[in-house]
Amino acid sequence: MGQVRTRAAPPRAAPAGPQVGWTDDPAYERFGLDAYFATTVHAGGEEYGTLCFGSESPRDRSYSDGERTFLDLMGQWLSYELEQQRRVRYLQESYEITSDPARTFEEKLQALFDLGSEQFGLDVGGMAKVFPDDDRLEVEYTSEECGPFRPGLEPPLSGTYCGAAYGADGPVTITDPVAEGYDGYAYEELGFEAYLGTHIEVDNGHDRLFFFTTTEPRTRPFTDAERTFLDLMGQWVNYELERRKHRRSQEKLYEITADSDLSFDEKTERLLDLGRERFDLEMGFLLEKRGDEFRVVKTQGTALEEGTARVSANPGNYCKRTITMETPLGVEDVTAVGWDDDPLYREYDLGCYLGTKVTDGDGVYGSVCFSDTDGRDREFTDADYAFLDLIGQWVSYELERDERERRLERSNDRLEESNKRLEQFAYAASHDLQEPLRMVSSYLQLLEHRYEDALDAEGEEFLAFAVDGADRMREMIDALLAYSRVETQGDPLEPVALEDVFESVREDLRMRIEGSDATITADSLPRVQGDASQLRQVFQNLLSNAITYSGDEPPRVHVDAERRDREWVITVEDDGIGIPADEQNRIFDIFDRLHSREEYDGTGIGLALCERIVERHGGEIWVESEPGEGSAFSFSLQPTAAGSS
Ligand code: ADP
Repeated sequence: MGQVRTRAAPPRAAPAGPQVGWTDDPAYERFGLDAYFATTVHAGGEEYGTLCFGSESPRDRSYSDGERTFLDLMGQWLSYELEQQRRVRYLQESYEITSDPARTFEEKLQALFDLGSEQFGLDVGGMAKVFPDDDRLEVEYTSEECGPFRPGLEPPLSGTYCGAAYGADGPVTITDPVAEGYDGYAYEELGFEAYLGTHIEVDNGHDRLFFFTTTEPRTRPFTDAERTFLDLMGQWVNYELERRKHRRSQEKLYEITADSDLSFDEKTERLLDLGRERFDLEMGFLLEKRGDEFRVVKTQGTALEEGTARVSANPGNYCKRTITMETPLGVEDVTAVGWDDDPLYREYDLGCYLGTKVTDGDGVYGSVCFSDTDGRDREFTDADYAFLDLIGQWVSYELERDERERRLERSNDRLEESNKRLEQFAYAASHDLQEPLRMVSSYLQLLEHRYEDALDAEGEEFLAFAVDGADRMREMIDALLAYSRVETQGDPLEPVALEDVFESVREDLRMRIEGSDATITADSLPRVQGDASQLRQVFQNLLSNAITYSGDEPPRVHVDAERRDREWVITVEDDGIGIPADEQNRIFDIFDRLHSREEYDGTGIGLALCERIVERHGGEIWVESEPGEGSAFSFSLQPTAAGSS
């Protein structure tokens, strides 16, 4: 803060009242002062009052120089203290205004205008945007309208008070416009007689002028304290403007990255543009490191061709350095740091650089960076680095996601490929193997008919085994074919009434049901989204198993349906032989069986088929079982689109 200047008038002294003719002075009359010794005290550039000493008895000697100096000093000290108090009060008030979270920027600005007007003794506060190329201003805010002076007014820049402040380093004061050579627009047209204003430099935006002015002629000059105070206000406005700008670009960044309608390419393009605007740099790049080169994946503000343009990374360019660093790298002037030997510098004439590393999950991908052919006259700020870091992080995240999706796609492709191969194999198995198999079967039958008499009991038994083996093989091949075709040859999923499916399966199993004296009951079953013929196979297998693995008692099977959250869970429960806990996962594997064929007939593919079908329907299948008590097979299915049952 500047030094406080108090204009100390020489102390006035009167040795005796009547002698100097002060007898009509109210102080003399009221207090009967016969001696008086006083000095003026100032505060805020104005007279504040007097510091005085008096006596009822006249003084017989005049005041010495020493006494005069002492009084003078006392007066100066008082002025200084008063000034100090005033300053503290104003500072406190301005702090309260600017730190108030409940006020908007505009409200704070208005409150500062009021506070400043009061302190500086100027009636109007204002802020204007500078358009130096057009040599004009645009009034943005005013504390009050003053004739044509109001927001939207576009006064000229040169020759005005604001023009003077724009060209100056610190605050500018004008107290006598005509004498100081400012009898132009502000004085002539607007009638402003005095001015206190300061220039606010705004990075990558319009500079501003922040000022106070008045239509009343100014009787006293501005103090250093007033200049300092204005300077502080200007700094706060500057900080707020920057902050608002940062917040806006941050919001824009989120807006772009969260827009699900934009592709990665479009988003990158917009982010590069946003960065160029935010950092005030001409060019933006997304570069991918390929060996000793960087490939230009995306670029804005350059004439380079994306995808094909390459930047050599030898002998060591900016990006090569960037990708070894954890934090963004900024160079305001590449000649100053000796980077002008860089091929990139020579090739593209780059004067400054701001870049950060980009990763893609597996490691370093490349860099996202911004540059300009000009050097930069101000340093990159912490906020610049933080913003670039955000851009880099987003690009890395997207690339990682992209990579993950590509991997998923690749493994999906592989899965599809292997499904297809399985189906091809099963097709070949059913058609190509069935032919020789049929041959085996028919020759076995021939053997049976023609040489029946020639075979002894053992021979007949061997033959029976062979026939059985061939039958079994056919069954397995058919089942495998059905299994392989679940994904590729299923019907589209549509509303299916499970009630109907269940009834038709029960009808198909009628012989077995009657033969085993089984009781099969069901609750009412819902409509679900499914492939009717596949769901039929599920019921077929589960009910058939429930009958097969029933033990000695006649099977009792119950089917029910329960709504759980967003799905239906269908359960087929029996009171059969059950399944040991440690075998319960195995049974869903293809060809896996818990029993020999002598005990129970089967191919071991039924449950594997059920699982594959249920999975195609987006559901799950599981078993709960207690050996000797029974088993409950449950599977989940999606309700119909309308959600009705
Ligand atoms: P399969 O019945 O042809 O052997 P599955 O895949 O249908 O083939 O069944 C696999 C195994 O699971 C069966 O061999 C049997 O051991 C067991 N299993 C299936 N259903 C039941 C059930 N309801 N009760 C007891 N065990 C069962």
